[in-house]
Amino acid sequence: MAKSDLQPARGTHDLIGEEFRRHRHVADTARRVSALYGFEEWATPIFEDTRVFARTLGETSDVVSKEMYTFEDRGGESVTLRPEGTAGACRALVTNGLTQANLPRKVFYAGPMFRYERPQKGRYRQFHQIGCEVMGAAEPLADAEVIACGWHIQQALGIESGTVLEINTLGDAPSRDAYRAALVAFFRDAGDRLSEESRGRLEKNPLRILDSKDPGDRALVAAAPTIAPHLTEAASAFYDGVRRALDRLGVPYRENPRIVRGLDYYSHTAFEFVTERLGAQGTVMAGGRYDGLVEEMGGPPTPSVGWAAGIERLSMLLEAAPAAPRPVAVIAVGEAAEGAALDAVQALRRAGVVAEIAYKGNLKRRMERANRLGARAAVIIGEEEMAAGAAQLRDLDAGTQERVPLAELAERLA
Ligand code: ATP
Ligand code: MG
Repeated sequence: MAKSDLQPARGTHDLIGEEFRRHRHVADTARRVSALYGFEEWATPIFEDTRVFARTLGETSDVVSKEMYTFEDRGGESVTLRPEGTAGACRALVTNGLTQANLPRKVFYAGPMFRYERPQKGRYRQFHQIGCEVMGAAEPLADAEVIACGWHIQQALGIESGTVLEINTLGDAPSRDAYRAALVAFFRDAGDRLSEESRGRLEKNPLRILDSKDPGDRALVAAAPTIAPHLTEAASAFYDGVRRALDRLGVPYRENPRIVRGLDYYSHTAFEFVTERLGAQGTVMAGGRYDGLVEEMGGPPTPSVGWAAGIERLSMLLEAAPAAPRPVAVIAVGEAAEGAALDAVQALRRAGVVAEIAYKGNLKRRMERANRLGARAAVIIGEEEMAAGAAQLRDLDAGTQERVPLAELAERLA
């Protein structure tokens, strides 16, 4: 075969075979478990008016400052391939007029996201996320429940022993203002030991420095003040409420005062599920409370909380890929039996049995094809069987074979 000079675009990947089955298993499991918590699935467009993201994710965030796929469409509108799912969900809540009735809205989504990043293991330019959002709930119980749902999904995937939940509070606005001042004072003292990028953020958004991936910054961050002494009474009480509910729900966690989220819209609860099994890309699920976001989309105050998780990273943690279904191979011996074989394969499919029919070749060829497909059984129909309204049913694992009436095939193979 000619080797093509066309390759997938940098940072994108095809999902084929085992990789697709892992991916699908993660999304299906998340869909099933989140439904148990009352989440309904939404699908919003994968591109939006650029302002949906630029306005809300924070101009100093990595995503907005250097990772967005933004372009002008043929009509001159600036559109952006969505880098995350929360902003679109909030936009949808507002533009569909759902900000009043039936709150809180509990929304699940799954789909592709796009960020212009340096590709590496667990980091792509097109990746996929699952996510849960509770929109219109100001109570700490909402934070705890959305976290419990994320943990439950990881349990259902059998990966929860490899991840640790780390939680923190970013407080309310007065807490954060006081903390911001303390951080600016601390990092200003560090002078040029701070990376250039972080120095740029010092005045605009010093909290962002806590999330820096620069090794020199990380050393400084380890000694930076924490928010705890700056929390208002109300912010402390909220954080207590979240921890109490997590304890009651049996969700294990570790407090980490260094956690801030990569996007600017968070307040109060911030959390990450981290793992040591994926090298530098150690965060698999992350989220927090975003009380101001719906308002920024032009809606009424709608306190909300949610998380997103990378499907690729979750997939990599799966112990084993789900097995591909093993079909039943229906094989006609001789041209005269082909019609009967076609009837039989279709009857099996109608009865819910995965079944394939070989298109060509003699019995030997067709049996080889059945083995390559990993078939669990072969249904062989020759002229003699056809006349008797029966087929040879061969169990390809046990190697046994017997004659079975066509009318009983589906029941035998179900
Ligand atoms: P990181 O610190 O790894 O860059 P982030 O803070 O940018 O992550 P979020 O915006 O919180 O990530 O997205 C939530 C989750 O989505 C991450 O925890 C991760 O599992 C996944 N994710 C984010 N960016 C990528 C990417 N480029 N490729 C694959 N998965 C990603
Ligand atoms: Mg990132």
